Amino acid sequence: MDPVVGAVSELLAHARGHEAASVFGLIPTIERLRDRPLQVVRSDHLAPGVFGVWRSYPERDEIHYAPWVATPDRTVAHEFGHMLLGHRGVPALETAKRTLPPEWHDMASLMLRECGQLDGLDEPRRRLEVEAEAFASELCRRIAGAGGARSARIRSLLNEAL
Ligand SMILES: [Zn+2]
Repeated sequence: MDPVVGAVSELLAHARGHEAASVFGLIPTIERLRDRPLQVVRSDHLAPGVFGVWRSYPERDEIHYAPWVATPDRTVAHEFGHMLLGHRGVPALETAKRTLPPEWHDMASLMLRECGQLDGLDEPRRRLEVEAEAFASELCRRIAGAGGARSARIRSLLNEAL
């Protein structure tokens, strides 16, 4: 099986009750799978053009998404993809700044992986972005295919995005 499709199937297989009815509903599912807390927050503090970012702390994960994204479900599903496909989250910028000399701070900001456009990414990073995007497509497609009013809403959001 395609590893991306497999990761989506595994996530959905662990969903309980109505968790699989929406992308945000799957937050507790991922917390159980990874055995650590996951917080998803709308953030005004992302760099311009950044859709979302997964910040990995020693004892928890956070996903931040920009307030202007047209489809928060899709953006968050993309970050779920990075988490569940074994990609590495970025450590918080503050952590990088604490451990690096001041002259490196601009470089640290650049190095932190934040998800926006593919332009200017090197090949390995571009591949990770494409994988996460494939995960988001598959997850949103399967949630939408499950039927119900909620999925119709997600479908209309997806149509807006296309
Ligand atoms: Zn990404």
